[in-house]
Amino acid sequence: MSRDYTKFFPSKQMGQNFLIDREIVQSICDILPNFALYDAILEIGPGKGVITRHLVSLNIPLFCIELDKRLFADLKIKYQACKNLTLINDDVLMVDFVKLFQPYKKIIIVANIPYNITSPIILKCLNEVKIDAMYLMVQKEVARKLNYHKTTNRNAFVNIVNYYYDVKIFFDISPKSFSPQPEVYSSFIGLKRKRFEPFNWQFFKFMKPFFLSKRKKLLNNIHPFIAKEALVKWLEQNNIDLNIRAENLDYDIFMKMFHDLGPK
Ligand code: SAH
Repeated sequence: MSRDYTKFFPSKQMGQNFLIDREIVQSICDILPNFALYDAILEIGPGKGVITRHLVSLNIPLFCIELDKRLFADLKIKYQACKNLTLINDDVLMVDFVKLFQPYKKIIIVANIPYNITSPIILKCLNEVKIDAMYLMVQKEVARKLNYHKTTNRNAFVNIVNYYYDVKIFFDISPKSFSPQPEVYSSFIGLKRKRFEPFNWQFFKFMKPFFLSKRKKLLNNIHPFIAKEALVKWLEQNNIDLNIRAENLDYDIFMKMFHDLGPK
């Protein structure tokens, strides 16, 4: 049997699960904030353009980064008349955001992102202070994890995201709303920046070792930069139970610890 080369074969590796449910697209559009607050929009992984179609009509500079050459070529033809759209055929993780956003002040991201690179995408966006809001479709499990006061899976990533952004979970989406159907449920979430200082990688690195063995007490996770005695003293001075686990210590306390005990 010969293969039909005119047919599009979705790539699992590129996390291609295309949104096909018009009602969900409409619900996403209804939730998005007032675009007048922003001077540029970024869409990551536009795919076949179901969300792009709405974003491009807003007449604000729109950047779409799509890794797949085939989808990029189709979008290029479809949107050739749209002057406000810049299509980029690249891996979002390789794009220089500082250069790309140089003429702009306040950027919003709207995207149904490839789930396999959710954390690297969010971390990269945290690093760019001009990115004021991110409206993302993520795996439901990731959305639950990021929900700070309810999560049962707090780690350094969850702390750092919540330190810089207010996280809101809007609604869940069934696998049936996509083609091909993913194995997991999805959620649409909003991250709104609440701190405008540059992203502190040292702070992130400082928190990570405390979560290496999650079930252990904070004090029993060996930390490469802090002597145990110094940590005991710090906990006592701050009236914190010596048996506390890292997942029960919130990001503001971690920040205080970082200021007091972190690299100078
Ligand atoms: N937004 C579309 C497609 C979602 S699927 C929709 O909702 O239907 C994820 C999309 O991200 C695919 O188009 C895939 O090709 C693209 N993609 C995967 N990895 C990428 C990367 N590293 N950089 C940019 N785009 C990527």
